[in-house]
Amino acid sequence: MKRIVITAIVCMMLPSMSMTGTSQEIATAEKPFVPAAFPIYGKGNPFPIYNNGGYPDLLTDSNRLVSSLDVVTKSFSSSSCELVEGSIGAAGSRRLLRFDVAIANIGNADLVVGRPNDPNNPYASSFQFSPCHGHYHINGFTNYLLLNMNRTIAASGHKQAFCLEDLVRYGTGASHGYTCSNQGITSGWADVYSKNLSGQWVDITGVPDGDYILRVEINAANTFFENQNQYSNVFEVGVHLPVTVRTKG
Ligand SMILES: [Zn+2]
Repeated sequence: MKRIVITAIVCMMLPSMSMTGTSQEIATAEKPFVPAAFPIYGKGNPFPIYNNGGYPDLLTDSNRLVSSLDVVTKSFSSSSCELVEGSIGAAGSRRLLRFDVAIANIGNADLVVGRPNDPNNPYASSFQFSPCHGHYHINGFTNYLLLNMNRTIAASGHKQAFCLEDLVRYGTGASHGYTCSNQGITSGWADVYSKNLSGQWVDITGVPDGDYILRVEINAANTFFENQNQYSNVFEVGVHLPVTVRTKG
């Protein structure tokens, strides 16, 4: 099967409030919900490497994403890089649904992207410098959306660009040393964009309480060929805003 969409119901507890600098965070005291179908992150690789004919296959670690979900409120100035990059809808106080995105390569070959400053790089036109992150990204690599239950758009989210590098090992082999300056993901490794990074959210300011679907798509611009692509590039999870805790089943 080419595309698998996993849906679970995750709900959020009302948060306690704390102040940090100019940003006011309403955080999330909530215990992560772990979908039963997936082993707990860090206790073995739930996504074994398979023979993809010598090509990478990228997936979002669903367990890590769900475990990391929270809601914060932060303030942004009118000159913030987030406004420039489009990860918030306006300056001022914004309510953000945040999450980690770990992108594992479980195909049997590395994803080789290369150097952003190499004019002969086949992906040269896809690189864009990120003022929020201070390095070059692959443009439009991910797309974050919040959908209503009828699949219309509740919060338009944004396309989040990524610098692709080896950060976490999922398989058994050694990293081939990909970094933001020579990008890629080794077979059996993952890049991780944690929720603390700029843009790792959907701006849900003004979104009423209720049930929604968070939709995260990777390789969203189809920049990279994934051959059989047995693992879906789309992950969806049910989210109840803002408060009550409910877990599936
Ligand atoms: Zn970055």
